Amino acid sequence: MGKVGKEIIGLNIDQLIERLNKALADEWLAYYQYWIGAKVVSGIMSDKVAAELEEHALEELKHADMLTERILQLGGIPILNPNDWKEQTNCGYSAPKDFNVRPILKQNIEGERCAIAIYKELLEFVRGKDDISFQIILEILKEEVKHEDDLENILENDLS
Ligand code: FE
Ligand code: FE
Ligand code: MG
Repeated sequence: MGKVGKEIIGLNIDQLIERLNKALADEWLAYYQYWIGAKVVSGIMSDKVAAELEEHALEELKHADMLTERILQLGGIPILNPNDWKEQTNCGYSAPKDFNVRPILKQNIEGERCAIAIYKELLEFVRGKDDISFQIILEILKEEVKHEDDLENILENDLS
């Protein structure tokens, strides 16, 4: 990144890159959990649920893109090896076991709750210190909040 672009950041950039990379690992695992969930989900209204899961998968992929662009801009190296996803993740990966709509939705709601907590922490870490990262993280956090809400609504309204 450019000289002044770096100078306006009031925190430890290596630490920030490390945290952005951990979030990147979460996004890839979230992407796959949604993507494979959409493929295997079955039961009542599974078409509607699959469509929602696919939409979320694409948004997680977009988050991975946003984080990667910022890591590169900061002069960092984004995770290069998928093996590191499992080592770096905050929220882990929850493989579908029961393919019915309810357990699949519940697994993904748990993932979103973890993501919201992690991005809120990250937002506080950069608040007032790195406005660019703040805006990126805020945009992602807004979508994670919407993801949780969308899935809860399907579970509580459409499936009850
Ligand atoms: Fe995400
Ligand atoms: Fe999400
Ligand atoms: Mg949605």
